[in-house]
Amino acid sequence: MISGTTQLAGFFASPANHSLSPLMHNYAFRACGIDAVYLAFDIDENRLPAALEGIKTMNMLGVNLSMPNKSIVLPYLDEMSQATKLIGACNTIVHKNGRLIGHNTDGIGFMRSIYEENVHVIGQKMTILGAGGAAKAIIVQAALDGIAEIAVYKRKNHTFDKIKHELAVISEQTGCSICVHDYAQTQQLTRDVEESILLVNATNIGMGENVECSPVPTIDVFRKELAVADLIYHPTETKFLKDARENGAKTINGLGMLLYQGATAFSLWTNEEMPIEEIRPLLIKGENKKL
Ligand code: NAP
Repeated sequence: MISGTTQLAGFFASPANHSLSPLMHNYAFRACGIDAVYLAFDIDENRLPAALEGIKTMNMLGVNLSMPNKSIVLPYLDEMSQATKLIGACNTIVHKNGRLIGHNTDGIGFMRSIYEENVHVIGQKMTILGAGGAAKAIIVQAALDGIAEIAVYKRKNHTFDKIKHELAVISEQTGCSICVHDYAQTQQLTRDVEESILLVNATNIGMGENVECSPVPTIDVFRKELAVADLIYHPTETKFLKDARENGAKTINGLGMLLYQGATAFSLWTNEEMPIEEIRPLLIKGENKKL
């Protein structure tokens, strides 16, 4: 029941109407008996400064951010987590006494989804395919959690040197060994996967027009001791995950990351645990409805 004391949390992005976050957070507020609602607002870079002031003016709990606001918000924050600084992007703001505190829960969400499946990666090596926004969040959190070594594969295009430099800084600041390779070096990729305990697809290969494709050159990379994760959750099982499963690997899709990044934001705002298992089927249903 909305009353005179109901608090507001929200989503600032443009476009904003595709998001499953309102479904997730409003369900969780109700389930936990918290007097708050979550709304999506279409906020682009021009409206962001006023919208951020609005968080304080309206005494909001906080907001989630997505494109195009995740990086451009940084100068407006009063404080930020170490991961947010290293990633250079913020997806969650907590409002505390007129101060805006920036967090990035994407990497935390991914790592929680891996731990939930009993994948023990601390002190071990992982290989990640792709080096976009989601990959960077995962690389930073994995390094902060204590993964010893990360092999990153990225196309050798105009952003290669920039990403290589950014990841070198993250390596230096976290003590995790991070090596960036050209995606075309398939023999090196096979060797890195052989040494890894976890292989992650953080590219767009396996969804949309690439739904029939796999991001690895051969199914020979899969083995039963390897955990294989795909950030994609629609389809629930990509070709990459199907091949991995059929070759004995443990597989994890991107739904856990989506759920846990939301659950982490929810806990930051409310100090409560989101009822994950109740929300998981709602998200699958919500995602199916969008198609
Ligand atoms: P992004 O910033 O656009 O990065 C995409 C990455 O994929 C880039 O490194 C890009 O390579 C690479 N890539 C795309 N097509 C490729 C191809 N044909 N061959 C090789 N590399 C290719 O996107 P993002 O936000 O990081 O998202 C990446 C994936 O994660 C998407 O599938 C997205 O849906 C998923 N995701 C899931 C969650 C979740 O909660 N489960 C959250 C965020 C994202 P270049 O760098 O060479 O361009």
